[in-house]
Amino acid sequence: KQDGEEAKEIAKYLPYFPFKGIDRFYDIGGFLCQPEIFQKIVNIFVERYETIGVDVIAGLDARGFILGPPIALAMKKPFVMMRKEGKMPNTVKSPGYDVEYGKRSGLTVQRDKIKEGDRVLIIDDLVATGGTLSSAISLVKMLGGTVVECACVVELKCFIDPPEDSGMPSRKKTFEK
Ligand code: 5GP
Repeated sequence: KQDGEEAKEIAKYLPYFPFKGIDRFYDIGGFLCQPEIFQKIVNIFVERYETIGVDVIAGLDARGFILGPPIALAMKKPFVMMRKEGKMPNTVKSPGYDVEYGKRSGLTVQRDKIKEGDRVLIIDDLVATGGTLSSAISLVKMLGGTVVECACVVELKCFIDPPEDSGMPSRKKTFEK
């Protein structure tokens, strides 16, 4: 949904966070304090993925850990964490990946949490370049699972790389620490 009061609430942004050079950081934490909007977001995802059918819900570090569990509980499906390296034992790690302002080392997941043939839904708060989600998709594939879909509350691609004739301002591509 592109407009409306609820969308505006989710899409509030802060300038110059986490550092000068990224001119709009979308602070999506606001809806967590508004149970009606939070519940509506969860319901939209639950309705969609009950229809499509998934075996496992994987949440990305860190805001995917907030959004994923209520969806997994409502669907009575297991929730799995995909974390930064060094946080969990017995893990598989995906290759490093690029984001807007540099490189990140791969994500990890515990080996026994995703099995051959599992249909996996990946959840995060926001997609910008898609680098983080691509890394999560690699992890699922490394374990023999299939990614059914990736679900996020906010999609920023249009702000990073707006069509030339859209008149939309670009989120800056050059960054100063
Ligand atoms: P990507 O890998 O798609 O470039 O970036 C998405 C990841 O970076 C997500 O895990 C997301 O939480 C974080 N991220 C990047 N930009 C923003 C932003 O403006 N707001 C929020 N909340 N997260 C962001």
